[in-house]
Amino acid sequence: MQVFKFGGASVKNASAIKNVASIIKDYNDDLMVVISAMGKMTNALEELAFAYFKNEDWKTKLQPIKDFHDAIIQELLLHLDANFMKVYETKFEQLTQKLEKDPAPNYDYEYDQIVSFGEIMATTIVSGYLNTIGIANEWLDARKIIRTDNAYREAKVDWELTKALFLSKSGLFYQDKNKKNICIIQGFIGHTETGQTTTLGREGSDFTAGIAAWCLDATSVTIWKDVPGMLNADPKFFNNTELLSKISFREAIELSYYGASVIHPKTIKPLENKSIPLYVKSFLNPQETGTVIQKDVQYDALIPSYIFKENQILISISPRDFSFITEENMKDIFDQFSQCGIKVNVMQNSAISFSVCVDHQEEKVAKFIQRLENEYVIKYNTDLSLMTVRHYTEEVIEQLSKDKEILLEQRSRHTSRFVMR
Ligand code: ASP
Ligand code: MG
Repeated sequence: MQVFKFGGASVKNASAIKNVASIIKDYNDDLMVVISAMGKMTNALEELAFAYFKNEDWKTKLQPIKDFHDAIIQELLLHLDANFMKVYETKFEQLTQKLEKDPAPNYDYEYDQIVSFGEIMATTIVSGYLNTIGIANEWLDARKIIRTDNAYREAKVDWELTKALFLSKSGLFYQDKNKKNICIIQGFIGHTETGQTTTLGREGSDFTAGIAAWCLDATSVTIWKDVPGMLNADPKFFNNTELLSKISFREAIELSYYGASVIHPKTIKPLENKSIPLYVKSFLNPQETGTVIQKDVQYDALIPSYIFKENQILISISPRDFSFITEENMKDIFDQFSQCGIKVNVMQNSAISFSVCVDHQEEKVAKFIQRLENEYVIKYNTDLSLMTVRHYTEEVIEQLSKDKEILLEQRSRHTSRFVMR
């Protein structure tokens, strides 16, 4: 059995959904198909959740969401299928009923109850469409399968329970060896022990694909994207990108750690643990080979990879009394990073100062500075970028740093990093 994952862009309108159906049709294996919310629906649902929570007018936020899905249904001619329409309208009704009740005080909880409907609608529509064109499939409810704790918006998976639930809800289905069996399940969402809906963090559908593959011992996972595979740089910032046709799990984890955004970082670990290969392929050119991420390591160093992050701030922190930076100081500083929810991208220390480069999320950074200001002198530079080069060469670095002011530089054997302006 193979796991497929289709993200928002691959199901953003009726013709995209038809394309997904044709990809599914071309495979003869059993499939577990993970699907995200359509297009930008998660963002729209976030706004809806926020308005609802603030007791503002949520109806004007809900209407465009309903209209968007309705229009796709019409174009796919699903409105002619009374059974489908009943299922679909019932699901929307559940969302409306939820919104008509007063919100609970916990925003993250309410967020998950509402935003999860993007995936519910997307899977309902794709599953319904596949049925009408003769591709039989089973719609699975991740709110009964992916078991998590109650850390809403960033829920942690209970692997063993999830595996047991996967096997009991879909295992039987896959036992019929005489036909191709297809299950459709939502990415991104799960449920707690008491049945409350949770989400796994933004862009978490890739992770769901990893979880499903781990639980069901899939032969492979394919993430279908609007790019040809994993590239050695983001085409938004670089002209001559190259396809990384084969890389190791280790390299994929490194790249996503430094900020490459093709696959969700949590996806790799469960696949690595069971040596399940991960393919990244283009849904626009499905016959192309794309990238395979697997145990093999020998190809990693062939092509340098570039990861570029904008909107960085470089903060330098020194004790007010001009004393050395000690382990005690570091402990205070890191406590504050953790409490303010700031992720450190690069750090470097000298005798009397400690420098860190972080994403410039203004509120968080302001809070951090305010908390340390009494004891430390804090200086910073904004509007910087952070460039990471894996498998760099001197030539590459010279080229990149030309005409740039470098504020901080760090090199290890395989990776070089520059904070620059
Ligand atoms: N729909 C969710 C999001 O946009 C999950 C995903 O797309 O992976 O964050
Ligand atoms: Mg999405």
